[in-house]
Amino acid sequence: MSHQPVVFAEELTKEFGDTTAVDSITFGIERGEVFGILGPNGAGKSTTMRMISTVSPVTSGTLRILEMDPQAHGPDIRARMGIIPQDNLLDQHLNVRENLTTYARYFGMSRSRARERAAELLDFVQLRERADSEVQPLSGGMKRRLAIARALVNDPELVILDEPTTGLDPQARHLLWERLFQLKQRGTTLILATHYMDEAEQLCDRLIIMDHGRIVGAGSPRTLISSLVPPEVVELRFDAPSLNDYAGKLTEIGDRVEQLPDRILVFGDNGDAVVAEIYRRGLPPSSVLVRRSTLEDVFLLKTGRRLVD
Ligand code: ADP
Repeated sequence: MSHQPVVFAEELTKEFGDTTAVDSITFGIERGEVFGILGPNGAGKSTTMRMISTVSPVTSGTLRILEMDPQAHGPDIRARMGIIPQDNLLDQHLNVRENLTTYARYFGMSRSRARERAAELLDFVQLRERADSEVQPLSGGMKRRLAIARALVNDPELVILDEPTTGLDPQARHLLWERLFQLKQRGTTLILATHYMDEAEQLCDRLIIMDHGRIVGAGSPRTLISSLVPPEVVELRFDAPSLNDYAGKLTEIGDRVEQLPDRILVFGDNGDAVVAEIYRRGLPPSSVLVRRSTLEDVFLLKTGRRLVD
């Protein structure tokens, strides 16, 4: 088996007129991993995904997918790839099963093989009972699962998901995560763009964090957190019109203090010790929460902003 990365990007750049949507990013994606592209709206995630999906040409830099050049080998790459776009793009005129069988026929499967494949995939995404249903009445989570089933028709090595759980309720998100985890266990390489840090932490082996078209952090969720932020965070709220006075007084207590509009975060090795020190100094907060650092904190400390406003 080849040891080349499934996707290799070097100084990959995409410009739209004066806008540099993706600004010279370099990364590699290994076979079998779940690779995340995390960042706020406008960071350049979709543009990166569209270049990997071979539907948007590269402005400059190198991009290799399954060891091929997307410009020259788009159809060969797409035959081995499954793409789940943000808006699902299901065929409303066909029922659930037909959305899969029709797609399977594009890949040259016989009618009976297409039906068989559709049945397997409907089982996989837990939509067997809805096989004869129209698409329109399905819930958001079901539509997403159907789009995933359709992307799997050709048994792709590489599956690309753009914001897979945006707009879904928590239960639907968890069901989807569980299916994606199953796919990973079967050895499929997954690339997902998301602005949800919990999704990235749950699913991704490795990820890049993008902002303004550039990579601001890269690695596994754990290493990103442990290498870039102190392990614990204390979230403090105060009954005061202005947090400025407090923030100034807290700077010596933790390793790092961040003031948000409604609360102050103090980062440190030991959150409880930070809290004890705050009380010792006579600065009792109106509420206090001690928690472990997350990818959201990595983004905040790297950019001074939250991922989701
Ligand atoms: P994300 O997916 O992280 O929200 P996008 O890749 O959609 O970010 O967008 C990155 C930047 O590129 C944004 O400033 C966006 O307005 C711009 N952009 C994306 N697609 C186009 C396009 N087709 N034409 C012009 N500008 C675009």
